[in-house]
Amino acid sequence: MKILATNDDGIDAPGLRALAVALREVGEVVVVAPDHNWSAAGLTKTMHKPLRIGKVRFPDGSTAYTTNGAPSDCVALALLGILPQPPDLVVSGINLGANMANDILYSGTVAAAMEGVISGIASLAVSLDTLGEEADFTYAAQFTARLVRQMGERGLPLGILLNLNVPYLPPSEIAGVEITRLGRRLYKDALVERRDPRGRSYYWIGGERPGGVAEEGTDIWALANKRISITPLQLDMTDHSLIAELKKWEIKTK
Ligand code: MN
Repeated sequence: MKILATNDDGIDAPGLRALAVALREVGEVVVVAPDHNWSAAGLTKTMHKPLRIGKVRFPDGSTAYTTNGAPSDCVALALLGILPQPPDLVVSGINLGANMANDILYSGTVAAAMEGVISGIASLAVSLDTLGEEADFTYAAQFTARLVRQMGERGLPLGILLNLNVPYLPPSEIAGVEITRLGRRLYKDALVERRDPRGRSYYWIGGERPGGVAEEGTDIWALANKRISITPLQLDMTDHSLIAELKKWEIKTK
């Protein structure tokens, strides 16, 4: 299996390195990742500045590519010609921090997997539910490698990606694997206003870590119950149930 690995935390992130090491047990891995942290970059297409590609050496001796583009740019660059052949799979992560519910719309990790799906490649986004700087990605990486092997054997329908979230617990405490739907996040964003040295206001979007509604069957519920969550995601955001109702509005051109 040929695997393209990327992330949104940047080329130096330990989660990416752990992922690459584990995936090498399953297939041939090429890493193309951003040169800095793009967390919450969403799906980006860089059109107004040149993209550059460099090479770095990972501690295990392997070579990785790094770019000044967003996570989704990394996937696009790889698929448009940096790789000699298209990969069978795009794997993005392992992100430091869960990506659940509406997080997926902001997430650069998920966006990179979406970019793979847009190009017709089966894709997987992987996140670890911790914000600890010294997080150990070993178990999450090993689990990901096993899931990737299954994805390779079974395949996925076109247009679908998997969003994997792993609880940050000792493996013996993980209660199982749940196939889930997206839950509902409760963001606690707050506007922080400061003043620059010239007296002008500037703003940060701050606040506490988001919470969520742990409704049974959702990704948020799974993680709250010490379970691994796998959510199949489709890029078609059409609300099919509202099409007939909106047609009844008989909206006129003038
Ligand atoms: Mn991130």
